[in-house]
Amino acid sequence: MNLTNLADIRALLARHDFRFSKSLGQNFLTAAWVPADIADASGADAGTGVLEVGPGIGCLTEQLAQRAGKVVSVELDERLRPVLAETLAGYENVELVFGDVLALDLPQLVSERFSGLRPVVCANLPYYITSPVIMRVLESRLPVKSMTVMVQKEAADRICAKPGTRDCGAISCAVSYYSEPKLLFRVGRGSFMPSPNVDSAVIRLDVKPASDKPAEWEKLMFRIIRSAFSQRRKQAANPLSGELRITKPELVEIMASCGIKPTARAEELTLQDFERLTDCVMGEKGEKGKG
Ligand code: SAM
Repeated sequence: MNLTNLADIRALLARHDFRFSKSLGQNFLTAAWVPADIADASGADAGTGVLEVGPGIGCLTEQLAQRAGKVVSVELDERLRPVLAETLAGYENVELVFGDVLALDLPQLVSERFSGLRPVVCANLPYYITSPVIMRVLESRLPVKSMTVMVQKEAADRICAKPGTRDCGAISCAVSYYSEPKLLFRVGRGSFMPSPNVDSAVIRLDVKPASDKPAEWEKLMFRIIRSAFSQRRKQAANPLSGELRITKPELVEIMASCGIKPTARAEELTLQDFERLTDCVMGEKGEKGKG
């Protein structure tokens, strides 16, 4: 069976009386080159353990299984259990886990299932949980080397946006704190069944080594980033002053002291600016606490 051939997919789904769920982001790939190229881009080889989110009928899973030491695929839709039992029957290095990827203990799953292997994440992500899945993997410091994922083109542009560009937002800063994001290639909407209204793109996030900053510092920095971008057309000092409960004149002084233009808008600030600002705000709060 060819898992990207339209006639084969239709026959498979009819045999199992399966209907697509729009709310689960079920758009299955129908172009053979795409899962093969995603699997190649993930760098999966015999020493790799791949965590896949949302196998669908298993077209990417199969490509990963042909390259990796082991594949663990998490699927929410129980109706796909008999379908996947049929399509992946020949692959002994694939383990299916049925559940919500956002509710599972991913660090435990990775440490239990990938012992002796180099873990990576690879997936054609359901569009409605793109950012939560990416942030969950990064924030939980899952010991993965990289995440190679297909997402909607617009989300890919936002995630990979450079500071100072129109697409840059809180997600771009957060992702670049934890990883080096790269936009790899574009996939047209015609490569899916059913066909979505927008194109997609494959991105790879190469995870950076864990920083030595305390959790409290990271929490403050993400608060600062989210708040600054909450009113992206205004000067960042406006929303930040309310969020941090620091008067605007005081905040302007802090920004100037760490080399940031006090009139800057969030999208003009780099990750390094946010990091320095966090250092200064933390120092200032520490000083006040002493006084
Ligand atoms: N990998 C297949 C492909 O490329 O053709 C299917 C990808 S489809 C875009 C997304 C898959 O994620 C679907 O199989 C869907 O049921 C599954 N899914 C949706 N929400 C999920 C969740 N919270 N946890 C795990 N899987 C989920």
